[in-house]
Amino acid sequence: MNLLLMGLPGAGKGTQAERIAEKYDIPHISTGDMFRAAIKEGTPLGKKAKEYMDSGHLVPDEVTIGIVRERLGKDDCKKGFLLDGFPRTVAQAEALEQMLAETERAIHFVLNIDAAREELMARLTGRRLCRDCGATYHVIFNPTNVEGVCDKCSGELYQRDDDNEKTVGTRLEVNINQQQPLLDFYREKGYLRNIDGSQQIDMVFESIDDILGNLSNSAVKEIYQT
Ligand code: AMP
Repeated sequence: MNLLLMGLPGAGKGTQAERIAEKYDIPHISTGDMFRAAIKEGTPLGKKAKEYMDSGHLVPDEVTIGIVRERLGKDDCKKGFLLDGFPRTVAQAEALEQMLAETERAIHFVLNIDAAREELMARLTGRRLCRDCGATYHVIFNPTNVEGVCDKCSGELYQRDDDNEKTVGTRLEVNINQQQPLLDFYREKGYLRNIDGSQQIDMVFESIDDILGNLSNSAVKEIYQT
């Protein structure tokens, strides 16, 4: 099954990606993770990506498309893949269509985890992390037993600098503007499926599972089997 996962920061993409990859036994391919790994290893790709990432810009399309092309050519992607964080531009989306067509593959679904801006704002600004072990909590949705103290290691909790209301607001705006043309692109192609991301984590996964389970009844099956 060839899937794309979309959603704004705080929508719960990471959690759902893990579950989808496990249940459907497909590799979870996150371009952000690939760039971070390359930076850690100090590869030429990492050196190139770092300057863009550090300044909050997108890595140029030709670099990003190149690494995705290479990754999708690996054997483990023959059974399918879950792309996360790619495409981020319409040029990347068009390149993806082309590279899949070259190998007689196609996207089955673009799963968009949708949640209202206010909900995402509340989720992101309420996030707290432990200084010592890195565990994450939420002041309302996942509070610690003792306020400000980590349940796991008794470390002190803090709020990330970029989780304040102003920065989160900007991050959401930037992402909304970036994502909209892609949602339009995939809606027109008939791939887009919106999932209500304001539900409980298990319910979000159930909604996704329903969509993916229906693959066997839909016209998409023909593409899948070729
Ligand atoms: P993420 O972990 O998906 O938020 O990505 C972290 C950073 O990696 C982004 O801010 C970009 O600088 C870079 N990046 C990840 N995916 C892409 C992409 N598809 N196109 C361009 N840059 C990307």
